[in-house]
Amino acid sequence: MTGDDATGRCNCGAVSWRINGAPLAVAACHCTNCRAQSGAAFSVNIVAKARDVAIEGPIKTFEDKMTSSGQPVLRQFCGECGSPIQSVITANPAIVAIKAGTADQAGNFAPTLHVWTQSKLPWVEVPANVPSFARDVG
Ligand SMILES: [Zn+2]
Ligand SMILES: [Zn+2]
Repeated sequence: MTGDDATGRCNCGAVSWRINGAPLAVAACHCTNCRAQSGAAFSVNIVAKARDVAIEGPIKTFEDKMTSSGQPVLRQFCGECGSPIQSVITANPAIVAIKAGTADQAGNFAPTLHVWTQSKLPWVEVPANVPSFARDVG
């Protein structure tokens, strides 16, 4: 644990999280399911190793089977207030995605890549200097 660890919490404060060390990436996801779950135009996700992430509080899980990738995604959220907290792609559970909007230092997590831009909303502009992918990465 260092002073650089990212921390965050849900809207009601019942759920909190910490990422030990630097995250792997910050991915903006424009898939339709992330849009629906976040209630926003797209979701911003702090990508980290699962073993570096600690979550405390009353987490609930929705198993999202109808995904763009075809891989089920566990969408975890605060059981009290419903804030989305973490997504886990079941095909690769060693890597998780923490919802950047719940970070205490949310301004630190500008997207380093955009994914699923084939379904992005037409008025969303991806900066030209940020890598973007029509579907998933690679
Ligand atoms: Zn909450
Ligand atoms: Zn998505």
